[in-house]
Amino acid sequence: MIQVSEYLKMGYRGIVFLHKLDWVETADIKCIHTRQELVCFNRNGTPLRVTVHWRKNSRLNGKGLKQKIEMEEMITQADYETYLMQYGAEDDALFYQAVARKEHERREAERKILEMTPNCPICGNQMIFKYRSHEGVAYWICVVSSKGKCNGSCFIPDETSKKYRQLLEIANQI
Ligand SMILES: [Zn+2]
Repeated sequence: MIQVSEYLKMGYRGIVFLHKLDWVETADIKCIHTRQELVCFNRNGTPLRVTVHWRKNSRLNGKGLKQKIEMEEMITQADYETYLMQYGAEDDALFYQAVARKEHERREAERKILEMTPNCPICGNQMIFKYRSHEGVAYWICVVSSKGKCNGSCFIPDETSKKYRQLLEIANQI
């Protein structure tokens, strides 16, 4: 039996064991094999389905444990949650799930920020979001405007400004 701590060492979190197969090989030295399928999150909070093949050499008193990742593929958050409901987690899944979800939201926000950020209509460089909170006025200015190279700027409607500021907050950029 492979301990959950072995999977934690590999950087997996929110571990849900699915299917396990054990067999023993006795050709030269006795070797116990375990093939474990699981779903989990990796360090970046990406939900994965993984198959790990463990080989335990019984003569080496536990020191002969080797693992090989046979399969590792991304799954959706919804798929992960389905497995979690069905099989339950071996470690503190709810905690890691919350962390992973937050990380996912942060990345989505970063992606939308990039999508919403226009290029300068004059020189084509990226623009920077500026917000004067006391007036509630938001506008884009050209990234090279501070160097006096371009004075491209444009006004941002309130609704867009509000959405953009929310995304910045989720992405921890303000
Ligand atoms: Zn410009």
